[in-house]
Amino acid sequence: MSRYPFARIDLAALKHNLQQVRLFAPNSKVMSVIKADAYGHGVIQVAQALTQSDAFAVARFSEALTLRKHGFDQPITIFEGVSTIEEWQLTAEYDLTPVIHQQQHLELLLKAKTSQPLPLIWLMLETGMHRLGLPQQDVIQIIDALEKRSDLVSKLGLMSHFANSDLLNDARNNQQLTVMKKLAETTGLPVCMANSAAIISLPESHYDWIRPGLMLYGASPFANKSGADVGLKPVMQLISKLIATQQLKAGDEVGYGGQWTADKPVRMGVVSIGYGDGYSRHLSNIGKVLIRGKEVPIIGRVSMDTVCVNLDDCPQAQQDDEVIIWGADELAVEWLADKAGTIPYELLTCVTPRVQREYLNG
Ligand SMILES: *Cc1c(COP(=O)(O)O)cnc(C)c1O
Repeated sequence: MSRYPFARIDLAALKHNLQQVRLFAPNSKVMSVIKADAYGHGVIQVAQALTQSDAFAVARFSEALTLRKHGFDQPITIFEGVSTIEEWQLTAEYDLTPVIHQQQHLELLLKAKTSQPLPLIWLMLETGMHRLGLPQQDVIQIIDALEKRSDLVSKLGLMSHFANSDLLNDARNNQQLTVMKKLAETTGLPVCMANSAAIISLPESHYDWIRPGLMLYGASPFANKSGADVGLKPVMQLISKLIATQQLKAGDEVGYGGQWTADKPVRMGVVSIGYGDGYSRHLSNIGKVLIRGKEVPIIGRVSMDTVCVNLDDCPQAQQDDEVIIWGADELAVEWLADKAGTIPYELLTCVTPRVQREYLNG
């Protein structure tokens, strides 16, 4: 049975990237963000490789439970928080670390009969992102309420999230930092603010805890920098193979809608990767792949299972050749994401379950 296409996940690269994170922020604790199946890399294997993290973070309650049920006993932060009484009870039972980002979640907690105090709750503050966050004027009052309830929670922390940290020297980042700095001084609570981009570019945001996601997987959050530029190694290499070749005549159209026409005789190849594997259809006619170290352009539309490529610059290419889809120095996922009009986060998390993950250096 063919293993193609598959995603080769280099767990040594993942560990290397965690070390790089610590070099950027040597005085902060690291909450490794492994939401969305560890950005498409496979959460269980990634969590095993990142046990040196001081904590893990996920978006949803169900993701946190999955980790506990697989025996991970690190602190696990839940960014979206806990929205029912039952979830609060389970949160205490499983020793999870929720985020409170709205008053209503707090009211449910005050009603829940939890079995033991939660070790820590993060209060997500509104500092400029306008997504999830408590209004500043409510924060002090919530802290007062919770500090009286040592039966419910032992420690509190302040969290906030940057809206523009991928833009260097953007004044809005400093505005958000100023708001946080003031609240940190007023309350004296530990602070967790920096995501990957801020870890790399805004040292003043490091504080007590940092929350790296993308950079752990070796990709850069900046449009004009690759992961390699900041000392990171790509963790995922997406690999497939050439399943057919064909000689085209001038005038032949390729694929659905005939979106590419040969202007001369051309040898074309068919690669087994498509949008059903998570390969973006926006790469139709503009993406490229690597065959025998050569860049080979995509011609025509991306289909569900295949893409067609122009083999003119790679005459040695043969059926069954391996094809690198992304994750090589010459073909970084950041570059491809930019071509597709999106970000590496989306390409990585969109790799579908049909693509087997193979783990190296586990
Ligand atoms: C996903 C997420 C992160 C990680 O962001 P990266 O840019 O991948 O480092 C950090 N904090 C919150 C709240 C998130 O949702």
